[in-house]
Amino acid sequence: MAIIFDDSRSINDYLKKPDSHPESFVSMCKRQAAGLKLISDEMEKERKEQEELHELQEKHFERKKKLLFDNLDLIMRHRDEILATPRYANIDAHYAIKGGGLYVGPLHTSRAFNVAGSIFRVGLRLATLLRIWETDQFKVECKCGGTAVIRSFTGSPLSGSSRATAYCPECKQEIRVKNRSFGQYFWFLQTSLSEDVETIAKSIIAKWTLAEAEYEKKVKKGNYKDPRPGAEFHGDGEYCDLETMINELKMKEFDFSTTSQHKRQNLT
Ligand SMILES: [Zn+2]
Repeated sequence: MAIIFDDSRSINDYLKKPDSHPESFVSMCKRQAAGLKLISDEMEKERKEQEELHELQEKHFERKKKLLFDNLDLIMRHRDEILATPRYANIDAHYAIKGGGLYVGPLHTSRAFNVAGSIFRVGLRLATLLRIWETDQFKVECKCGGTAVIRSFTGSPLSGSSRATAYCPECKQEIRVKNRSFGQYFWFLQTSLSEDVETIAKSIIAKWTLAEAEYEKKVKKGNYKDPRPGAEFHGDGEYCDLETMINELKMKEFDFSTTSQHKRQNLT
């Protein structure tokens, strides 16, 4: 199994063929005489379409980022529920935090893997982000009394100095944060993403083990026509996105406030 393990590249880069091949003059003449291009029109078309998809995806993540911060107070009120509910905890939230520094370059909060020709992406999970924001390094007291969370940082691993911006879910203001350890931001986030990669890899292994066990059971019962355990391999069930989670949490608060109102009315 071939695993490409380069997190500095987007999916777009994986699909793009290298632009130049070392080619001898003789072979170039032969190739051109045969009407063959190094980069065919079809390859060029694929590259352009992937670029367009990538641009659309960037806009998509910008919109999600705005939605997440606009509703950060709601998300924080339901923090424990999100952590305890896998379909909420596993929501991709890699776009909510950005960082990078001199020499080390940008921080990757999402990694793409090419595993046997299937590309899958692991992004920082919402549960991981909420736990990161619980640490002293990633939170700051706001003048309004609320707790702001770090959402971007830059700095240098050599001097260790940094500049960061934090966002307060209460007063919706951005706060500038200076002189915190750059390494504490950068390496902590990188380790957190590695832990998410581990969570997902282990989850796939566990699901495959289950699929093999199910298959063995059916084979033992006899009369089992399907030849492979792949048929028993299943994912996590219903997928939940950030938009759905926010809507469900808002509905819950609405239901709660209307029931409390009814109770108050019944008491008076
Ligand atoms: Zn505030």
